[in-house]
Amino acid sequence: MHGESRGPLHARLVVDEAGTVVAADPAVVPMLGDRAVPGADLRDVLDGNTAAEVLDYLGGRHRHAAVFDTGGLRIVVRPAKGGDRYDVEVENVDVQQARLRRLHLTEATIERVTDMIIWLDRDGRYVFVNAAACSLLGYTADELSRLRVVDVDPFFDDEIWREHWRDIVERKSFVIETVNTTKDGTDIPIEVTVNYVDFDGEEYNCSIVRDITERKVVESRLLALNEEITRLSITDDLTGIANRRRFDAVLADFVDNHAVTGDPLSIIMIDIDHFKVFNDHLGHSAGDECLRQVASVLDRIAAARGGLAARYGGEEFLCLLPRADEAAAAEVARQCQTAVAELEIAHPASMTAAAVTVSAGVLTCRRPFDIARILTGVDAQLYRAKREGRNRVVHGPDTGSAAPST
Ligand code: GH3
Ligand code: MG
Ligand code: MG
Repeated sequence: MHGESRGPLHARLVVDEAGTVVAADPAVVPMLGDRAVPGADLRDVLDGNTAAEVLDYLGGRHRHAAVFDTGGLRIVVRPAKGGDRYDVEVENVDVQQARLRRLHLTEATIERVTDMIIWLDRDGRYVFVNAAACSLLGYTADELSRLRVVDVDPFFDDEIWREHWRDIVERKSFVIETVNTTKDGTDIPIEVTVNYVDFDGEEYNCSIVRDITERKVVESRLLALNEEITRLSITDDLTGIANRRRFDAVLADFVDNHAVTGDPLSIIMIDIDHFKVFNDHLGHSAGDECLRQVASVLDRIAAARGGLAARYGGEEFLCLLPRADEAAAAEVARQCQTAVAELEIAHPASMTAAAVTVSAGVLTCRRPFDIARILTGVDAQLYRAKREGRNRVVHGPDTGSAAPST
């Protein structure tokens, strides 16, 4: 009845929850007929189906708007503010005109968006590219229509493309990150949203492609920053070798691992002898330099043995030696002692030698391990080395392992 109505393009009315017209502007009548006046029931104003749909919506007490199309009219119903009323907007739609406008907007969208829109056929040939694709890749649409994705994406060859195509057919839509090489040879990182499209009986991949150069730059900066933060958090500032945090983490790993394999695990605690008087005589920065040299020697020796040297605090170091039994650990401890002596760092105030020396306590544990006991155990051995005259290695009994269970 209202399909042919011409005249006003917009009209408004207000209805209540039951679908009774509460108010209507005069423009409603030429669009919906002369029954569309206050007091009328929507069922008498709209066609049967539309009326049923609108009433259904009204009954649902929705808070969002709904759109209904009927015979050349578009009806938008939305809850009115602060009440049980609904605003109804009626728009006269010229179907032909609307279709054309939609087509123009579609075209403008495709040509003006900054993302690339690319249609590829099953052989990876460029069937369609938008303006953004041409400007990013540096080819004209005509040139691209003669190319295949394998010419532009260095990660694709025929075999990989075939596999990719199988994936597209199976999964329909997904996102990948890859690279496109522009006409002048620049590689651009891209994110591709792949869409399988069956169009006019042919299969295509309609991809939305985005230049992610900036994102990649930010990502790699963040990654580098993260690595640097991690590195700093496990490194001793002064000496550059592992710090106590790193040592604790590696010890926990080694202990877990050794509990499984049953291999012995050895630990050496090394302390510089008479270091306080070294500082007092030669100054704090000479002390720092001495710590750096000793640290570097211990680091080298432990690493060569597949272990880890860490500064545990002050002038105290720990070496962790995986799979090292008593003999191997004592040997490494002596190597450390000798290597430090060979640095020949003059120590005029030492009561032990003319150069800097170290004392070392060694402990070899067999499973089950108890970390707290390992550390107190090896500390006790170091204490013995100090008491017995310094510049020596003392190997203790296996107090680091837990008492055997009964
Ligand atoms: P012992 O032979 O019994 O180990 O005697 P010691 O003097 O080496 O031991 P003590 O624990 O009395 O002194 C350790 C000294 O280490 C005291 C402190 O000034 C020095 N020290 C600790 N950390 C640093 C550091 O980062 N730089 C410098 N230069 N000295 C440090
Ligand atoms: Mg000391
Ligand atoms: Mg000390």
